[in-house]
Amino acid sequence: MAKMQQKCSFCGREKSQVKLLISGIDAHICDGCVAQAQSILQEELASRHQAKLENIELKKPPQIKFYLDQYVIGQETAKKVLSVAVYNHYKRVMQPQSNDDVEIEKSNIIILGETGTGKTLLARTIARMLHVPFCIADATVLTEAGYVGEDVESILSRLLQAADYNVKAAEMGIVFIDEIDKIARKSDNPSITRDVSGEGVQQALLKLLEGTTVNVPPQGGRKHPEQKMIAINTQNILFISGGAFNSIDKIIASRLSTNIIGYNFDKEKQRIDKENLLQYISPTDLKKFGLIPEIVGRFPVTTHLNPLSPDILKKILLEPRNSLIKQFVKLFDMDNIELSFDDEVLDFIVEKSTEFKLGARGLRSILEAILTDAMYELPSKSRTKKFRVTLDYARKKFDMAGISKLKVA
Ligand code: ADP
Repeated sequence: MAKMQQKCSFCGREKSQVKLLISGIDAHICDGCVAQAQSILQEELASRHQAKLENIELKKPPQIKFYLDQYVIGQETAKKVLSVAVYNHYKRVMQPQSNDDVEIEKSNIIILGETGTGKTLLARTIARMLHVPFCIADATVLTEAGYVGEDVESILSRLLQAADYNVKAAEMGIVFIDEIDKIARKSDNPSITRDVSGEGVQQALLKLLEGTTVNVPPQGGRKHPEQKMIAINTQNILFISGGAFNSIDKIIASRLSTNIIGYNFDKEKQRIDKENLLQYISPTDLKKFGLIPEIVGRFPVTTHLNPLSPDILKKILLEPRNSLIKQFVKLFDMDNIELSFDDEVLDFIVEKSTEFKLGARGLRSILEAILTDAMYELPSKSRTKKFRVTLDYARKKFDMAGISKLKVA
């Protein structure tokens, strides 16, 4: 019997007509069909991914805010602005490809506020609500390529790790860039000498913010030639930046006073709240502070956090779903001890945290200082079933702990 010419079992072309014919058990496939199959596979997976996206029940802004309310106390304006920005962002991500020319731009966000006022907490809570990967990057350790420090791509490596190396999930994640104010240009005069710490990093960051495909070293660290890179498209990654922007209030104040001069403005309507100038922040102020215009342009949403008043600090102790008091009560409860606090103890903790300028972060250290001895002794005393913390007890333990032990986390 004459030997049959081998053919591709998919397109029927003969071996002589193709570059390569791969043989299986009962069939063959040519290079052309392999390439086609590959693209079908990619399309199919992408559409399944899209279908998954469409299944996400995107909460409406008031529902997003309601979720945030359970974890973040106060900060009403910021929670509202963030709810809208996040809603718009994910609406944009989930919209089917359309042919009209209306392209919705990304709503990256800058949050201004003193340290410890809840910037990271807000970003983290949003990521938790949406079940998307989340990572925190510290802008101060970033340097432009070639300098000692971390490349900006390391941010995406971290996001990829948070997504368990699922690229599609990472591409919908949220990145929180902390201390963005620390990479501000040091002078208003752009680049006479190279400003390694500031402008160069901002330029490098721009690349990520613009929404391009970036090659990322999966394990982080520096890129090196032999390392296998993973391509990540940053188009749908939401970037939230935070910073204290110390003394930007002076910039805001000076802009406001220049604007007011020469106008016959309605004093009642435009009375300026001098105590909290951050609420009047505008893109010009951010530029003046030292962010390059392109970066400012990539963060169209700006909001601010208020300093935490004693009232709010007390609520932070008690009210969030996982509040510190609830956490300690649970810890004691695991040893079958019912923990309770006299109300004045809570005021005392707030007072000390404010006095030592520890803000919300100090609350935990102070509580630890007060409760360490009890947590040490009580679990082995089988007869103690209730433990009530009185002001005297709290004061005594606090004094014994010494202020030096109260480190801000
Ligand atoms: P920032 O990023 O602004 O420096 P964080 O978000 O890290 O501050 O806040 C530090 C800690 O203080 C958080 O873990 C949280 O427990 C608490 N905290 C700060 N602000 C609030 C708030 N408004 N509501 C509830 N907890 C808060």
